Amino acid sequence: MGVLRYVSRISTRFLNSQHKTAGGPVNFQSVGNVARGLVPYDRLTNMTLSPEDEAFRAEVRCFLDGALTDPLRDAARKRTSLWQDIGSSMAWQRILHAKGWAAPDWPVEYGGTGWSLVQRYIFAQECVRADAPSLIPMSLRMCGPMLIGYGTDAQKARYLPRILSGEDIWCQGYSEPGAGSDLASLNTLAVAEGDDYIVNGTKIWTSYAQHANMMFALVRTETSGKKQEGISFLLIDMTAPGITVRPIINIAGNHELNQVFLEDVRVSQANRVGDENDGWSVAKYLLEFERFSMGSVELRRTLDRIEGLAGQTRTGGASLMDEPDFRQRLARLKIDAMTLEAEEQRVLANLSAGKRPGTVSSLLRVQHSETQQRADTLGIETAAYYAAPYQPEALEVGVNQQPVGPEDAIALMPMYLSNRMKTIAGGSAEIQRNIIAKAILGL
Ligand SMILES: Cc1cc2nc3c(=O)[nH]c(=O)nc-3n(C[C@H](O)[C@H](O)[C@H](O)COP(=O)(O)OP(=O)(O)OC[C@H]3O[C@@H](n4cnc5c(N)ncnc54)[C@H](O)[C@@H]3O)c2cc1C
Repeated sequence: MGVLRYVSRISTRFLNSQHKTAGGPVNFQSVGNVARGLVPYDRLTNMTLSPEDEAFRAEVRCFLDGALTDPLRDAARKRTSLWQDIGSSMAWQRILHAKGWAAPDWPVEYGGTGWSLVQRYIFAQECVRADAPSLIPMSLRMCGPMLIGYGTDAQKARYLPRILSGEDIWCQGYSEPGAGSDLASLNTLAVAEGDDYIVNGTKIWTSYAQHANMMFALVRTETSGKKQEGISFLLIDMTAPGITVRPIINIAGNHELNQVFLEDVRVSQANRVGDENDGWSVAKYLLEFERFSMGSVELRRTLDRIEGLAGQTRTGGASLMDEPDFRQRLARLKIDAMTLEAEEQRVLANLSAGKRPGTVSSLLRVQHSETQQRADTLGIETAAYYAAPYQPEALEVGVNQQPVGPEDAIALMPMYLSNRMKTIAGGSAEIQRNIIAKAILGL
């Protein structure tokens, strides 16, 4: 009952205080029905929309119906990791950019849409519903907001339009072999020489570095004193001489991660963001954006998939949905997804008011990653032995090969494996809990 009360409390507060077009608070009776698996949770969490927002939803649907090609939808349905394949992701970004919809979260003057938070939520929901490919977050969701907050006018003028158009693809050079959770221990050294820095060192777990032509990176510019106070933030051209990218294959068999080696790489000092030795402030600012995502929208897709699959599965003549234990587990996940959704809406409201995501992004990160992993586990159990066959051919975009088992089951195991990273990447769950504890307990 405690969870239900919490959902009701935060949703009501959000709807009353932030969402001017909302029809009213969450219906308690309906929450109970969701918990019993009697009503789909989207009926409950969908806001009551104003006629203008309904018209906006219709406009988005109409656009998506026309713009999404079959191969793009196929690619989205077959995505097996956090990252969409680069070809579909960039193709979709170019289509959105042509429409002016590539960066709904950015301020209008830099190419944002000027949508209300309700409209941004509607857009995210509709993209998932229509099977739109996901966009690579390092450019649009991380580098862009960081430059808007901290970049010089010249950096903004050069890089923001290129991020929107997809001309530049960015990767994130934070972690090193000896610096992950303890990021301030990083050792990649940048030594000033004339107007440049000469950079030497190595970065690891660099997602999509093999596709990126730019990297935002933390480097050490001072070796004495407090570790955090000797770090600078650089924008590095990945095509510069001295950079080598070595692949790392993950547990699901995908090439998404890399180790990047930098040997005497020359970077102009004009490519430093913020003051020398003040890169830590920039890094922390960017991490707040990295840690906040509309994870509930993704979670909803997983839960819908599981529910569809459970309806088909026969155990002794009945479907899994007829089993109380299964229904209860699914209902609990739906309630957790609703809670997450309400919290996300609160952060979006803050962003709309020009505020930073703040510590709550750590809370959401933990909530989202752990709920997603529990959902993935339930997905595997639902698919049962159909989750076992390794069938990468069936996951290839445009291939019509009949999979072993139901269509919805083939991505579940690779997704389950890939999503183990959710409680590590961007700061592990333990580190997020430390941040939350510090904020709440003032430690
Ligand atoms: C799929 C994936 C993609 C990634 N992409 C990128 C990327 O694009 N760019 C980038 O820079 N980095 C990236 N990372 C790196 C990621 O940020 C680090 O893996 C993460 O910060 C953890 O650091 P670590 O791997 O060095 O683990 P460690 O820091 O060695 O931690 C090991 C374990 O110890 C625990 N631990 C450590 N310190 C504490 C503490 N103080 N209190 C409690 N527990 C603690 C951790 O929670 C963890 O369980 C990626 C990682 C993954 C898995």
